Amino acid sequence: QCIMACPVGALSERENIDDVWDDLADPAKYVVVQTAPAVRVALGEEFGLPVGTRVTGKMVAALRKLGFDKVFDANFGADLTIMEEGTELLSRLGSGENLPLMTSCCPGWVKFMEHNFPDRLGNLSTCKSPHEMEGSMVKSFFAKKAGIDPKNIVVVSIMPCTAKKYEGAREELSREGLQDVDWVLTTRELAAMIKEAGLDFVNLKDEAFDNPIGKGSGAAVIFGATGGVAEAALRTVFEITSGKALDTIEYTAVRGMEGIKETVIDLPTGQRIRTAVVHGLGNARKLMEAMERGDKTYDFMEVMACPGGCITGGGQPIVDAGTSERIDIKAERAKAIYTEDEAQTVRKSHNNPYIKALYEEFLGEPNGHLAHELLHTHYIKRSKV
Ligand code: SF4
Repeated sequence: QCIMACPVGALSERENIDDVWDDLADPAKYVVVQTAPAVRVALGEEFGLPVGTRVTGKMVAALRKLGFDKVFDANFGADLTIMEEGTELLSRLGSGENLPLMTSCCPGWVKFMEHNFPDRLGNLSTCKSPHEMEGSMVKSFFAKKAGIDPKNIVVVSIMPCTAKKYEGAREELSREGLQDVDWVLTTRELAAMIKEAGLDFVNLKDEAFDNPIGKGSGAAVIFGATGGVAEAALRTVFEITSGKALDTIEYTAVRGMEGIKETVIDLPTGQRIRTAVVHGLGNARKLMEAMERGDKTYDFMEVMACPGGCITGGGQPIVDAGTSERIDIKAERAKAIYTEDEAQTVRKSHNNPYIKALYEEFLGEPNGHLAHELLHTHYIKRSKV
């Protein structure tokens, strides 16, 4: 059985390698790249490394050698998403409106909702997805800090996902005529560029991401596996409401490959968060229908269109049938994601010092006026497919 499982892969896998090469060759352009968590645990497979090898440092080194002016980590955007979405969750729990709050970082799921449950779009978080948030910050906060005209900045996202190409082009994800993200390349496309450039990937020395928006927490890394967004949000929401640091930060009930996972978190405020984590659009439809019938009630739902989450996205390396019979690809890549989380010194989004600085220096409060303008979006009712 092949691991190519992204149910929305059919949306299009337009190759954008030449577009990115053109921008890299243009001296007038300042080209910034950001990479999603799932890419770093799969890219090595394209270069013969075992499934589940973490190649974060080599990936950063390769991107710098390809000529990108800055190499940022989309995990910073994931931490920002948690700050905004966590605040949104607390505010909806307070008002009781538009519950359950549904995550919005998977464009496959968002499009599914727009077509199939248009009357429920108010439940989706208004947060842009992490790489879109980060693109928006690059063209505002970073551009200002670095003294670069945002019109000359090109943002390239390396994603495990083909649906992100469609998301990147959405009109709502632009400001003053500039898209938050200009090009989305898949993990496979990045591998092709590295090969075209003739880099000896396996022997590259590890390098670190650039700052000030390069650093992400462990909570951000786990966005790559099913349950990760929910766990990251719960780590932050629990601590913010309790005012105390958690001893145990792993919410194992939302981990693993079961199609639908449920857990209940009691906050120190007396509020309850009935949480559901779903992966695969078939499971998502089942759960939505159960909710419509009134059989299920939740306060918070994480949905990822791909089975297992982004680690098996449609832009990830294709594993041959023989290998996927021998090795549990999903489990190995997920294991690498959780090891990467454990390797971080900062494991909660709200403790990321660069996120704190961003709010202090630029954004103000989570869900404040500027945050709303730059980090939130809206959705469109579309016809049934
Ligand atoms: Fe893309 Fe991840 Fe959603 Fe799959 S689960 S469609 S890879 S965002």
